[in-house]
Amino acid sequence: MICIHRIGRCCSRRMLQLTESILRSNSDRRRIFNVTGIWDAKLNVDTKKEIERYWMERVRQGEDSMRRQNANQNKSKYYVLSMFPYPSGKLHMGHVRVYAISDTLARIRRMQGYEVIHPMGWDAFGLPAENAALEKSMPAHMWTESNIKHMKEQMLNMGFQFDWDREVRTCDESYYKWTQYLFLKLYDAGLAYQKEAFVNWDPVDKTVLANEQVDEKGCSWRSGAPVERRLLKQWFIKTSHYAKALREGLNTVPENWFDIVDLQKNWIGELDGYRIKLEVHNQNTSEKCYESDAFLRDISELHKAECLLVPNDHELCTKFPPDINRKLNVNIKHPIRKDKYLPVYISEETKSGVYFEQPNAMFGRIPNDTSSNSESEVTSLTEEEKRRVTESLSASGVLSGPISGRFRDWLISRQRYWGTPIPVVHCDKCGAVPVSYENLPVKLPLLEQISMRAGSILAAQDEWIRTKCPKCNGEAKRETDTMDTFVDSAWYYLRYLDTENSTKPFSPEAAAKYMPVDIYIGGKEHALMHLFYARFFGYFLHEQGVLPQPEPFHQLLTQGFVQGQSFRDKVTGKYLAATEVDLSGPSPVAKATGNEVVAEWEKMSKSRLNGLSPDDAIAEYGVDSTRLFMLGNIAPRSHRRWDPTLFEGLIKWQYYLWCVVNDFILRNTSRKPCTLTSEEIRKHEETLFDNRNYHLKGFDDAIDRFFGLNMALTKLQGLTSSLRKVPPMMMENSPEFRRALEQTIILSYPFTPHFASELWTGIRAVPEVAAEVENREVWEMDWPKIDKEYKADLVIQLYGEDVTTIKVHREVLKNMSSEQALGLALEQEVVRKLVGGSNVSDRIRLSKQTEFETLLDLRLPDAAKAWKKQLKAEKAERKAAKKLKVQAA
Ligand SMILES: [Zn+2]
Repeated sequence: MICIHRIGRCCSRRMLQLTESILRSNSDRRRIFNVTGIWDAKLNVDTKKEIERYWMERVRQGEDSMRRQNANQNKSKYYVLSMFPYPSGKLHMGHVRVYAISDTLARIRRMQGYEVIHPMGWDAFGLPAENAALEKSMPAHMWTESNIKHMKEQMLNMGFQFDWDREVRTCDESYYKWTQYLFLKLYDAGLAYQKEAFVNWDPVDKTVLANEQVDEKGCSWRSGAPVERRLLKQWFIKTSHYAKALREGLNTVPENWFDIVDLQKNWIGELDGYRIKLEVHNQNTSEKCYESDAFLRDISELHKAECLLVPNDHELCTKFPPDINRKLNVNIKHPIRKDKYLPVYISEETKSGVYFEQPNAMFGRIPNDTSSNSESEVTSLTEEEKRRVTESLSASGVLSGPISGRFRDWLISRQRYWGTPIPVVHCDKCGAVPVSYENLPVKLPLLEQISMRAGSILAAQDEWIRTKCPKCNGEAKRETDTMDTFVDSAWYYLRYLDTENSTKPFSPEAAAKYMPVDIYIGGKEHALMHLFYARFFGYFLHEQGVLPQPEPFHQLLTQGFVQGQSFRDKVTGKYLAATEVDLSGPSPVAKATGNEVVAEWEKMSKSRLNGLSPDDAIAEYGVDSTRLFMLGNIAPRSHRRWDPTLFEGLIKWQYYLWCVVNDFILRNTSRKPCTLTSEEIRKHEETLFDNRNYHLKGFDDAIDRFFGLNMALTKLQGLTSSLRKVPPMMMENSPEFRRALEQTIILSYPFTPHFASELWTGIRAVPEVAAEVENREVWEMDWPKIDKEYKADLVIQLYGEDVTTIKVHREVLKNMSSEQALGLALEQEVVRKLVGGSNVSDRIRLSKQTEFETLLDLRLPDAAKAWKKQLKAEKAERKAAKKLKVQAA
């Protein structure tokens, strides 16, 4: 134990504060330094928790005030976005991991001097709230509200530092008003339309089911009745309009999108055809009776078409059942040969191959018809004619593309209650009419009780449905479909930037200032749909002139899963909880049955019984250590096994750092006479200087190049061990030691904010440190910079193989010519030997890699041979020496 009262000199003000705090806190028996003024050399989980209790609110307020100071100071912006959660009720370890990553990155960037945006919100509409309302008779809005409250509390308890003044909830009127506004903008631009499509119909409950509500056997989750396919008129967003741009945009995104680029390209598909709108006419009356569409590889297909071929699960077959010749009793009006009508046949061909995942109609020849050859006499179109026809059909909106055959527009209608109401009314006279902008939001009624047997829940709200037509002011009915929640989440990152805006979803100025998102962090499971829809909104809003660039996300980081150890009974296949497994033998067996058990690492989940609640993790390890486990020794993109044996290194690191601070205070309290010579001190300082800069460079590199928080932590551990290697006497006699220790704590702050804050107070009790850092808390410190005097590497190579490294002042290296570099290289004996006396100035290549590394490549064939020979000889020598050693032993 170190008592602060023994630190005798020149820190009377601090002493006074500490004494006061001791007096104040006598009653609550806290043991940490900030309260008692006594530094306990021991560090255990209780100490850590106590530190966290003391610091959490202080850190939060301190950082918040830093954030407010940083705003409007013309600092460079940095937007860290983590995917917002669905308020299911509880955070899981996957959340903890993603938010630990974003929180740490946000803190690093903030300390590096950026104005950081790090918001949080709730993807709060969706089916589970509705299910809870049905099953627990708890109103959906109250269920959602209480879940948000609980999860927010958990986030605060984890010490995550979000910009809570930017919080959004997609189920709030103040949010969904703007989702509706954006829908109207899409509608105005011709990108939202209504069309019939299949839904899952529960014939017993008489309601539409979401796909998730249909079990593997194709039955309803509630009634158990076999689900029917039914055609309903539904709303679509015309994502195909930007399919080409969205696919080509993938060629411009940064390399760290990795395989997401291929996933997205695959999702959009090859742009190898067009979708064409078709008028369907009654066979007998020739009147138009329906609209449909078909996929077209080439305009020539259309020109030569004899008929339309549809698979038997196509909407046209449901709508107009075929006769015994498999011919439908409707015709298609030919899109370019206006006088011509084409018959429609069922054909298995259109389903063949893996190409079409959804039923597609195509043009072709009449099946099993050998007599008709007339159409083949139609001459092919020239390239010029094809171009002309394509242009004119595209201009009239009949043709869209180029597009892939399997790509479909986004069906956003949901016959659900808990979602954003689609702002449209239906009038008998005027048809579907959009609600005017000034009448937004169309409010969702907050129902106390909902029942399933109603077609759709909103469809049963007679009073809510009745309204006036915006066009003719006659009686009209509200649209009862709500939007897919993916619409809500397609633009939330923009609302964060301007949550108070009451006239627009966000101001173009805010978007210009803060977009694009610099780093978007979330699960790979959202790399397809969510990312595609969010990019779609980016492209649309860019074209509307309110977003400076179409791509909303610059860099992407898809974090790996948190895995727990799962146990499965080999005989029954059932998952077992760890407590049900006997692990004492050579292989695990089920306690109850004695059956063999398969132990595996799998994504944590309730069904696998291998989960862990964040609350339990904190209870066992404390907040900061839990954060470290989420970030340490494995890259953010890899899966994190929750295996306490892997965490020992990280716990030890905290302990070592604690001990260094302990020794540092102790040394500076006792002030023993120094027995080191000034030469010894100078040498140690040089090493510390080099180590500090080396690790700092490695830290910054790891973050800047690939968000390698694990590697940054490794550097921090390296720096800590270099502090432990110097003689303890250095701790009180070396400014370089103090600097290195200060910087170690500053660098560790983003990972373990509470722990670092406590360490910081500890070292500030040493007067020299107090003088250097003044009254600033650790979160107020500037990010350490690499010293100007820290030299860079001039690496001498021979055909790319390292020969030797020369330390050179960075400023000198920056402007160095290849002749000068060669001159330096020749000062080294190893290089002189290789070059001999010959003039090689025309056979060298100088290339700058980074500020800290420049390569000088010598391209000398003879020298290369000699060098290889020499290396070989050295290797043989080492091998022989090793052998001798082994023999001797
Ligand atoms: Zn009307």
